[in-house]
Amino acid sequence: MIIVLKPNTSKEQADEIQRRIEAKGLKPLYLPGTERVVLGAIGDERVLAQLHLEGHPQVESVKPILSPHKLVGREFHPHDSIVKIAGVPVGGERFVVIAGPCAVESYQQMTDTAKAVKSAGAAVVRGGAFKPRTSPYAFQGLGVAGLEILHKVSKEQGIPYVTEVVEVADVELVAKDSDALQVGARNMQNYRLLSALGHCGKPVLLKRGPAAELKELLLAAEYIVNEGNPDVIFCERGIRTFETATRNTLDLNAVPFLKQRSHLPVMVDPSHGTGVRSLVTPMARAAVAAGADGILVEVHVDPSVALSDGAQSLYPQQFAELMEGIKPFVQAAGRTL
Ligand code: PEP
Ligand code: MN
Repeated sequence: MIIVLKPNTSKEQADEIQRRIEAKGLKPLYLPGTERVVLGAIGDERVLAQLHLEGHPQVESVKPILSPHKLVGREFHPHDSIVKIAGVPVGGERFVVIAGPCAVESYQQMTDTAKAVKSAGAAVVRGGAFKPRTSPYAFQGLGVAGLEILHKVSKEQGIPYVTEVVEVADVELVAKDSDALQVGARNMQNYRLLSALGHCGKPVLLKRGPAAELKELLLAAEYIVNEGNPDVIFCERGIRTFETATRNTLDLNAVPFLKQRSHLPVMVDPSHGTGVRSLVTPMARAAVAAGADGILVEVHVDPSVALSDGAQSLYPQQFAELMEGIKPFVQAAGRTL
């Protein structure tokens, strides 16, 4: 329910209405605007009807929130949210590039990659310590040792990092030092994990499941925000279709769709979205044009020996060319790198 208050309403009067909402077991929200205050009430709207707020002298109007994803939707929160990854603002004017290997393999590999992507203009480095792999025989990541490498390299090279968390038991450990936590495509509907991330105190990069509808992605984000963490960034990473020429089909419809429905930032991962190195840069340009707030790109110092996702990983030189290649698109989109 959206409760629009009259322009002359004092903070005390607004507080009193919020207390009445809370007393009914609903979650009150306070949104001060330039002209008037808007309150929200999240929960069973039939209960709210018992308060008869339409008759309150300070209430101008009461409207139901129609979308099922009330917290991440734009209805109640019309302005874009900016989510900061260690001070790097995602969702504002800046187009944010996150780059790095699929998996952390060694201190040297991570150091060389962090140096290369930072000097080419990436704002954040990535690398998986815990890897959710399709095959149990594939490299599963270095685990805790990988986290330690990421932390050290990030400090030494002066660049924040994002890394994946694959299960509830690891949330605290991964959240301790990292600047943002990634939820991989395979875990988008792991609701226990999403709820736990609502308390992790760090931004969450939420990837779309390979067979998830966009409304399911919105509701997955709602789980995290509903538990108290407003800092969620969507990431479109391609979905499974009948097409086999590419690893996934990068659904760029998702970008304007999510931007229209939600106030949260939207990033695009053209690496997993295509699975093909030569397609990454063209689709990165397309992501900028579609209105994405940033991209997530896999870069490896030597993709020919990468322990995971080598075929889609860019060589550092190719990443530098990608950064040059997106510049005119970023400028045309009215943004900065
Ligand atoms: C990754 O980012 O390396 C990854 C595992 O991605 P996804 O969850 O999108 O497959
Ligand atoms: Mn990968």
